[in-house]
Amino acid sequence: MAQITEKTLVIIKPDGIQRSLIGEIVKRFERAGLKLVAVKMVVPTMEQIEKHYTLDPSWRQKNGEKSIKGYQDKGLEPPTDDPLEMSGMTLEKLKKYLSSGPVIPMIWQGLHAVAIVRKLTGGTEPLTSDVGTIRGDFVLDSYERSDVDKRAVRNLIHASGSVGEAEQEIEHWFSNGEIFNYRLVQESVLYDVNLDGILE
Ligand code: ADP
Ligand code: MG
Repeated sequence: MAQITEKTLVIIKPDGIQRSLIGEIVKRFERAGLKLVAVKMVVPTMEQIEKHYTLDPSWRQKNGEKSIKGYQDKGLEPPTDDPLEMSGMTLEKLKKYLSSGPVIPMIWQGLHAVAIVRKLTGGTEPLTSDVGTIRGDFVLDSYERSDVDKRAVRNLIHASGSVGEAEQEIEHWFSNGEIFNYRLVQESVLYDVNLDGILE
């Protein structure tokens, strides 16, 4: 069962910082009731980025299939039919994208943190990300255009895709001493069974 201590990793990518969207992004997670338990700014190395995306051995296959489907759904020819070749090209572009400036890794905690953050983040390609999501509301990009420019799709943030992925990614970006265990007063309203602490 989902725990109220579930954690997820978010990284504000270099474009998110350059677009002055740090506050807006943080606000969206904060107002949903999630708790920020770790945050820092770093310029990641290429090695750190490659490791981040390959912690999950199935990422290469899944990312390749999703990208190819993204083209096919729009009646476009993908650059290759091979998912592994597709994601290999994307990984090289991601290393350049994420090492181009400072990024902000953060850990958000709360009930269903992983799924809630993914929902608020929106789909990978801003062209088709839902309206109301961070990627749908604040940026415009597509696989088609990023391909012509030979770069990664710019979509402002990273968010862990599953609880298992989140655990590995948190360990990759943070040491235990950087993660805080503290109480937030609003948690008594979010999680108390009887809401019996309100009336005097
Ligand atoms: P998500 O970030 O939504 O979990 P993925 O893990 O599949 O998506 O991909 C990681 C990142 O790689 C994306 O956020 C995006 O910046 C970039 N990306 C993914 N697919 C492509 C693609 N086909 N072309 C360019 N960039 C891509
Ligand atoms: Mg992902």
